[in-house]
Amino acid sequence: MSQPKRYTVTTALPYTNGPIHIGHLAGVYVPADIYVRYLRLTGNDVAFIGGSDEHGVPITIKAKNEGVTPQDIVDKYHAIIKKSFEDFGITYDNYSRTTAPIHHKTASDFFKNLHEKGEFIEETSEQLYDEEANQFLADRFVIGTCPKCGNEESYGDQCENCGTSHNATDLINPKSAITGNTPTLKQTKHWFLPLDKHEDFLKEWILKGHKKDWKPNVYGQVKSWIDDGLRPRAVTRDLDWGIPVPVEGGEGKVLYVWFDAPIGYISSTIEWAQREGKDWEPYWKDKDTKLVHFIGKDNIVFHCIIFPSMLKAEGSYILPENVPANEFLNLEGNKLSTSKNWAVWLPEYLEDFPGQQDVLRYALNANAPETKDNDFTWKDFQARNNNELVAIFGNFINRVVVLTNKYYDGVVPTPSEFTQIDEETLAAVKAYPNVIASSIERYRFREAGQELMNLARLGNKYLADEEPWKMIKVDENRTQTIMYVALQIAGALSALCEPFLPFTAEKLKNILNVSSSDSTKEINIENSWNDISTKDVLLPAAHQIGKAELLFSKIEDKTIQEQLDKLEASRKANEAANKKVEPQKDTITFEDFTKLDLRVGTILEAEKMPKTKKLLKLKVDTGIDTRTIVSGIAESFSAEEVVGKRVTVLVNLAPRALRGVESQGMILMTETPEGKLVFVNPDDSSVANGLQIS
Ligand SMILES: [Zn+2]
Repeated sequence: MSQPKRYTVTTALPYTNGPIHIGHLAGVYVPADIYVRYLRLTGNDVAFIGGSDEHGVPITIKAKNEGVTPQDIVDKYHAIIKKSFEDFGITYDNYSRTTAPIHHKTASDFFKNLHEKGEFIEETSEQLYDEEANQFLADRFVIGTCPKCGNEESYGDQCENCGTSHNATDLINPKSAITGNTPTLKQTKHWFLPLDKHEDFLKEWILKGHKKDWKPNVYGQVKSWIDDGLRPRAVTRDLDWGIPVPVEGGEGKVLYVWFDAPIGYISSTIEWAQREGKDWEPYWKDKDTKLVHFIGKDNIVFHCIIFPSMLKAEGSYILPENVPANEFLNLEGNKLSTSKNWAVWLPEYLEDFPGQQDVLRYALNANAPETKDNDFTWKDFQARNNNELVAIFGNFINRVVVLTNKYYDGVVPTPSEFTQIDEETLAAVKAYPNVIASSIERYRFREAGQELMNLARLGNKYLADEEPWKMIKVDENRTQTIMYVALQIAGALSALCEPFLPFTAEKLKNILNVSSSDSTKEINIENSWNDISTKDVLLPAAHQIGKAELLFSKIEDKTIQEQLDKLEASRKANEAANKKVEPQKDTITFEDFTKLDLRVGTILEAEKMPKTKKLLKLKVDTGIDTRTIVSGIAESFSAEEVVGKRVTVLVNLAPRALRGVESQGMILMTETPEGKLVFVNPDDSSVANGLQIS
């Protein structure tokens, strides 16, 4: 498309059943923010749109497990996620949520509209049903074997192993995620979007139209789905959490979360436009608007096939110009996992590295999984900081600012005649905005970030070659010229680093005393992105700059080791949790069982057995009598903390002597994977001592 009039940039709506981690930031939000900041700096009209995805099955499962309402879950994580985006400088124009009334209305109207146009198929079909839970099973409510790759833990809507999206009834050997039962089939009516009907359009639009400009990983996935043949896809669910199906026969049903979520981009834009007094429609309906979706690879099918088919069926919307999906980021060689706590959570990062958001933004971008899965390692994070941000960028700025203050009291000196090196250096600086822009516009953000660092390298090389610290002793005029040139490079960096290092850009602009978002100062030097190429002077002679301030500081090995230790602890806890469950022992008869006399008791007294590590001598009220039991629990409990504990006692175990004390029975215990003992005890206070357990 020729120069767009405006941009609508969306990011995948994070699902509100947990906080977000570095994988999300690297895959979607940092690249999108770099793109948007660059567009704004170059004077474009942009709507940067995001929000929380708050419907769907996993939220209801989490709510059930935690004994709270789905609304409690989404309120909690929406707030946490929104704060993380603010903390890391993701500059949304609007961040909304799909439980917002404006979204319910927009999605509901969208559905009604397609329904009236006859764009859906209504079909009563057999769906998986859990008789015990009294509920239809779809999406994450059902787990089974993926028909495509054989993964035994595939979800009903999508296999996380091979990325295939399917219907729950396609699963082989399905099991209910609620009860573990094998579901039955039960008839229910649903509305389907006939994707097959849109196959020709998708072929023409993507396979022909975007062969050259879409990333190969995205294009390849789309092609493989289309080649496999598209089928009608249900857009409603039997569920009570979501947007009610707004047409006759829709009682007790809601819109499928993947139908309503992408409409969230539209409703968030409407919310923004209403607040700003703008018209939202051009951002979604004018052909001169460039629509770009930033997502992870697991969302490609929804953004490249399903949502465009919905927009096409509606008829008045534009389609995305590009969907620059990233692959996945791994952490220290392993897949990031919320359930296994194998992640670097953003709130935790900020606690451990306060004020160092730019370091993470920079390291994640430098290693972004743009074309293939990539690995985040703490060692690399340290190296990016110490060897690039500190040693190149920070070092250059620091030398320029310190020397300017030392030689000229912080006043930009007047240059004399430029040498050829000076001319070449200044010309090279002018080329950078275009070089970086060209990478950004092709969604090559890693490359763009490296080009920015190359500009700092250029500055360092210039200083190292021209050696103003030596020149000052022999030629004051030449020194002034060198420092003037170096200051122009610093000025260029302060403008061009903003998309990548927004917090640093602010600091640097304040040091150089040029216009920043701090509007309390009256400053008349403002260098836009394009000015770096067109202006001859970025920091004029006689301009006063501020004092040096460290932009980055070295990260020590010890700090990195602490992060590695944290991960190691996660790994161990995981292994412990996955520790193999002991196999079942040989079957016994009921008569065998009734031989065991188990009673409820209370520990009355306890003392540590002398010269032993593990043993406590207990006096236990068994209801029958008060007896002495020696128990090997001293490593998990002190004598004081077990007094008064309700316990389960095997009272007819033959007495045996332990360290000279006769133990008359056994207290039942279990052991956690970490090796901590736990009492098996009746927790109802109405259960009296001496009652039998059977
Ligand atoms: Zn699969």
